[in-house]
Amino acid sequence: MTSKPVTAICPGSFDPLTRGHEDIIRRTLSFADRVIVAVAETATQSKRGRFTVPERIGLIRSVFQDQPRVEATSFAGLLVEFARQREAHLIVRGLRAISDFEYELQMAQMNHALNAEIETVFLTPAAEFAFLSSSLVREVAALGGDVGPFVSPPVLEALRGPGNP
Ligand code: ADP
Repeated sequence: MTSKPVTAICPGSFDPLTRGHEDIIRRTLSFADRVIVAVAETATQSKRGRFTVPERIGLIRSVFQDQPRVEATSFAGLLVEFARQREAHLIVRGLRAISDFEYELQMAQMNHALNAEIETVFLTPAAEFAFLSSSLVREVAALGGDVGPFVSPPVLEALRGPGNP
């Protein structure tokens, strides 16, 4: 019997990628053959982002340039439809705190109702990253704080670059 490679999708805004995201992506690699890091275009339209979708993808690619099992791309529309197109049966989300739980439970149940072949798996981050969010990193960086411990070097460089609000 040959088993098909397992493809997992880590969806999100990734504005920008933090070490918390990286932790979830690396841990997903321990049980999936391939991880598609999928930047949501739809969410971006309502939330004005710090980085454009192509910039976010570029940063994810540079952070994971040595990891051929990680692909970064964007998707528009329904996540379950994107998963179906890419033949991925796993959606992986990070759960940091109880406050994440209600929304994540709703999304997972809705996605399951839309496509019962796709399972959502939740991973908890390492404790050292549990407080990290992209929005907090953006805010601290914009106020001149050192976010070096929370993001990888390409992201740090981009946050220092022009266009900082
Ligand atoms: P979204 O806007 O969809 O929440 P994010 O880019 O903020 O997208 O997050 C993408 C995924 O990464 C989500 O599953 C989120 O819970 C998870 N995540 C974000 N920050 C962390 C962190 N510090 N530790 C673990 N998971 C995280």
